[in-house]
Amino acid sequence: MKSISIFWFRRDLRLEDNTALNKALAQNSNVLPLFIFDDQIVLDLPNDDARISFIYKNLQKIDGRLKEYGSSLLCLKGDPLHVWKELLKEHHIKNVYVNKDYEPYARQRDEQVEHLLKEHNVAFFSFKDQVIHEEHEVLKNDGTPYTVFTPYKNKWLSVYHPQKPSPLVAPQNLRQETERFPSIAEFGFTESKIIVRDYNLAIVEDYHEKRDFPDVDATSYLSPHLRFGTVSIRTIIKELNDRNKTFLSELIWREFFMQILFHFPDVVTHNFKRKYDGITWLNNDEHFAKWCQGKTGYPMVDAGMRQLNTSGYMHNRVRMITAGFLCKHLLIDWRWGEAYFAKKLLDFELASNNGNWQWAAGTGCDAAPYFRVFNPIEQLKKFDNKGVYVKKWIPELNTLDYPNPIVEHKFARKRALETYKIGIEA
Ligand SMILES: Cc1cc2nc3c(=O)[nH]c(=O)nc-3n(C[C@H](O)[C@H](O)[C@H](O)COP(=O)(O)OP(=O)(O)OC[C@H]3O[C@@H](n4cnc5c(N)ncnc54)[C@H](O)[C@@H]3O)c2cc1C
Repeated sequence: MKSISIFWFRRDLRLEDNTALNKALAQNSNVLPLFIFDDQIVLDLPNDDARISFIYKNLQKIDGRLKEYGSSLLCLKGDPLHVWKELLKEHHIKNVYVNKDYEPYARQRDEQVEHLLKEHNVAFFSFKDQVIHEEHEVLKNDGTPYTVFTPYKNKWLSVYHPQKPSPLVAPQNLRQETERFPSIAEFGFTESKIIVRDYNLAIVEDYHEKRDFPDVDATSYLSPHLRFGTVSIRTIIKELNDRNKTFLSELIWREFFMQILFHFPDVVTHNFKRKYDGITWLNNDEHFAKWCQGKTGYPMVDAGMRQLNTSGYMHNRVRMITAGFLCKHLLIDWRWGEAYFAKKLLDFELASNNGNWQWAAGTGCDAAPYFRVFNPIEQLKKFDNKGVYVKKWIPELNTLDYPNPIVEHKFARKRALETYKIGIEA
């Protein structure tokens, strides 16, 4: 049996500037590209999940490109450890290459796979690819992680050197065998109606001025692309070409939360600041359902939730307003909102979602202070003063069909402040 090396795609769904793929091709011949729909993840999702459709389409694209080189993508579905056991039986595998994934589940999965491969004398190589700086590359002078954004950002910038994106190298080293690419139905999925937009960096010139207005199309829609790696972070920073510091800063927030999750994995289930553990959440099911459906009677909150439910996207300003409203006005545990966003967001990423939810709840690192309670009516006046955004998503606004507010703002604000205060002192 001719030996092969395997490159395993995960959240790096591209051929260009793919660090581990290039390493695999530069150091080996007969490289088999592989993707596994991971049952541990996909079995919890509906069959027509928009993210699965997006992944599938990108895999199809990759397979098409690989076929131009006389190769193809092996696409499987199952529990990764089980799939690897089968692959070891079917092939003589020499080396396996991956790009690192820093989420707790992914780290555990990779450790298990690496262990299995080592038992079979297969070398496992993993590379930094998803970020500019990984968790150990931006630390305080005493070697501990940053928990406040601005000093993290300053250090990040001070250790940054431009990295040139690299095109696909040595495609002749791909395994020269083509296989038919399965249909989406063969994996048990159906295509979603929700489409992921292309990203758009033409907006960066006036990003800092327009990014907070949800009725203006002034953000990049980059997040699902970074999430699934359809473009590399190095390519984006090169395209950005120093044109907008605010935009770069947002990209650094992404890495800030990734390193927080890496160093403090307890944030997945706990408040980053434990002094908030004493908050008594009301967790009213009916209120939660109304928030999810966009029927709270607060247009900015409702428009955001309906945008999320319909399109899998919500503007960042509105994410902050809807999240703050759930935690403060309704006194519902941020973990409920976080889980709902995780189900719906095309760009769902554990680190950013958790970090931003804890920010909104006031429980996170470098969070908004708990006594800062967004007024959803003022936010509407400030960021959508002509009501263009809210009318787009709430056709029955200004009619009798639109509900009255489920909670009065002043009352809710006072209740939140008291509950948080008691919680902290408990
Ligand atoms: C409650 C809440 C939950 C969120 N959940 C997620 C999530 O699951 N996944 C996710 O990628 N972002 C999340 N964000 C951050 C932010 O809202 C989105 O990244 C952004 O709206 C995506 O749209 P865009 O690509 O057009 O953003 P742009 O404004 O064009 O920003 C460019 C890129 O910078 C990064 N970025 C921007 N803002 C943030 C931020 N606050 N934190 C981290 N990275 C940021 C993203 O990679 C984004 O694609 C959340 C924010 C809030 C308030």
